[in-house]
Amino acid sequence: MERRIEEIKRKLALIGEMRPGSLNQQRTVCGNLNCRCMDPKRPRKHGPYYQLSYVHLGKSTTQFIQKDLVGAVIYQLANYKNFKALTAEWVDVALALAKEKLRVDKERHKSETRTLKQKQRTI
Ligand SMILES: [Zn+2]
Repeated sequence: MERRIEEIKRKLALIGEMRPGSLNQQRTVCGNLNCRCMDPKRPRKHGPYYQLSYVHLGKSTTQFIQKDLVGAVIYQLANYKNFKALTAEWVDVALALAKEKLRVDKERHKSETRTLKQKQRTI
């Protein structure tokens, strides 16, 4: 388990630019009756527009992302997902490791008091 934690630390060190959130694509209607988006036969909506939503320190934020930045943002979002997965796994392994150490200590303590009692008996 210690080896898995070392592996997680190595992977975390390699994570590049990141940011939390999710990216949504939107197409809109402007409402202008003469516009292509209002065409009764073949309406063609505006867009796509890209919207990034995220929560940080309890505050949720939504912002528009320029089309030419969408690729970079997708890369950052994927890195953040990887970061979250790795830290969650680290916590899992750390908890299992801590539990195991407690169990081993308890057992050692038990056997030590047992041998102490046996010694006292033989005296
Ligand atoms: Zn329109």
